[in-house]
Amino acid sequence: MENNEDYNINYEYIVRYIRDTIKKNDGLLKEMEQYAKENDVPIAQPETIRFIETLILSSKAKSVLEVGSAIGYTAITLANHGCTVDTIERNEEIIPVLYENIEKSGHKDKIKVYEGDATEILSTLDGKYDFIFLDAAKAQYMEFLPHCLRMLNDGGIIFSDNILYKGMVATDELFRRRKITIIRRLRKYLEELCNNDQLVTSIVPIGDGAAISYYKKEQK
Ligand code: SAH
Ligand code: MG
Repeated sequence: MENNEDYNINYEYIVRYIRDTIKKNDGLLKEMEQYAKENDVPIAQPETIRFIETLILSSKAKSVLEVGSAIGYTAITLANHGCTVDTIERNEEIIPVLYENIEKSGHKDKIKVYEGDATEILSTLDGKYDFIFLDAAKAQYMEFLPHCLRMLNDGGIIFSDNILYKGMVATDELFRRRKITIIRRLRKYLEELCNNDQLVTSIVPIGDGAAISYYKKEQK
């Protein structure tokens, strides 16, 4: 599997320094980090996961929707903080590992897996969420957005990961022809996030770039 998710747009020495400040995990999360490395499976980068944890705790988010579970690293981290997590994954090879990790984590009651493509699954969901983590096929974020807005609670947050896409979204100098569709779609998606009157969005150059959008449903 091509490990795109692992790309980081920041100076290496900055990333290294920040990572050195982060307390190391032990137990299951550490095992999962090793598994991800050995099997080239993407998991959230250390500074990104710490950022998400900070946002979740400071906004007091309780219910989370995640698009793109992989092996369940973020889902389990957030369940450890007391959140309930609905998470969507389409890769049939990864799903058994995901269930195994959830079982080991002891959070079977908190994490619900939806198997299949998010473009189909999302329209069947009708939950209410405080925090939505988009971490799947980036070309589809625009399609996911109406569902996010439909299910997000007032004052909720959409965290869209990998939105600068190796920096290619920000400058044509890094342009690669076979990435043209994904780059165009991400630019359009960011334009929508930044111009939607119900969203206050901040683009943060962490990891591969993240957009944090606060949802104010009621116009005052
Ligand atoms: N959120 C995870 C990492 C996700 S990696 C973590 O933080 O640990 C991205 C995952 O999204 C991959 O496992 C991939 O199979 C899945 N994915 C990509 N597009 C998808 C789609 N349209 N529907 C469901 N899953 C998708
Ligand atoms: Mg990611």
